[in-house]
Amino acid sequence: MKKIHSLMMRVILACALLTGAALPVSEMILASDASVDKMEVHFIDVGQGDSTLITCGGSSMLIDAGDDSKGTAIQNYLQKQKVKKLDYLVLTHPDADHIGGAPVILTKFEIGKVFVSNYEKDNKTYLKLIQALDQKRLKSTTPKVGAQYALGSAKITILAPNKKYENPNDASIALIIENGNNKFLFSGDAGEAAEKDILDGKTDISANVYHAGHHGSRYSTSEDFFQAVDPDCAVISCAQGNSYGHPHAETLNTFRTNGVKVYRTDEDGTIIAVSDGKKITFNVPASDTWQAGEPTGSSRDSKKDTVSAVRKQDSSPASELSYVLNVKTMKFHKPSCNSLPTENRQDTSESRDSITAKGYVPCKRCNP
Ligand SMILES: [Zn+2]
Ligand SMILES: [Zn+2]
Repeated sequence: MKKIHSLMMRVILACALLTGAALPVSEMILASDASVDKMEVHFIDVGQGDSTLITCGGSSMLIDAGDDSKGTAIQNYLQKQKVKKLDYLVLTHPDADHIGGAPVILTKFEIGKVFVSNYEKDNKTYLKLIQALDQKRLKSTTPKVGAQYALGSAKITILAPNKKYENPNDASIALIIENGNNKFLFSGDAGEAAEKDILDGKTDISANVYHAGHHGSRYSTSEDFFQAVDPDCAVISCAQGNSYGHPHAETLNTFRTNGVKVYRTDEDGTIIAVSDGKKITFNVPASDTWQAGEPTGSSRDSKKDTVSAVRKQDSSPASELSYVLNVKTMKFHKPSCNSLPTENRQDTSESRDSITAKGYVPCKRCNP
């Protein structure tokens, strides 16, 4: 569908040039590859929570800011990416794992627009956010469904919230970002009811990359919604061993049976997707563990035991461990890891201490 659309645009443009007919500017931009900026989408590892930085053509947007223990880590990450100003700060909904770190971000960065959900919470975390906004004299608004915003060459379209909800998750701001032919969908923690309301809006929500709703919970990514998004890839933001059991097995099954590539912050840390308007590249290989966050009965428990037994064996001195480095992402792996780098690989017999002293961080899959 997406390809056909782009092809159609080119045909329209070619026809327009031949006939001398004028085209709306937006359509001409879509048809011309030269005007598409590089867009980077950083799914920042904030443990159990969400925080995604999107940069495009010198503009930047942060969607959510993790819990209150992650504000400074996100600040450091943004500064490393040379972000000085956030053109948009989107706080999908007022749960602590999405807004907790926001006061730090509000204090430390110049901020353009602040978008919040239409759900107001009466707790400390929410009050701290309101105070931080007041101190910066920033006004927050709930964006209207259908409203569009520019981020470099990328176009953001608001999909939700479509009404007021009883559940803060359902009140999440959802949006789709389109850069050239590449589309990314974010829906916060919106559950099935809110997903249905998005579908009723009849907007095309098909996307290449789907930021899995509610950390891969079974209460999001309902069948109809998933079919409409029809993603090639899904990114799940969650922490290893989180108490909610995210991601749930049902969601992983939906992805697996539909051939969706899955990327997970609990396994790989921060995940970066780069879009050039035509193709999207990830900084890590897709996950192949299909490991749900929750134990689902005895068979899984026994599998866990096997895994930990293998781990013990691996770390015994008899295995003469050397490590595999990725000199680009600065991660190090056990030689037996199933996500060893194919590029930028360097094998080493150095000690773990000397590798970490150089700034390498352990791969979360193989725990070297
Ligand atoms: Zn959440
Ligand atoms: Zn939530």
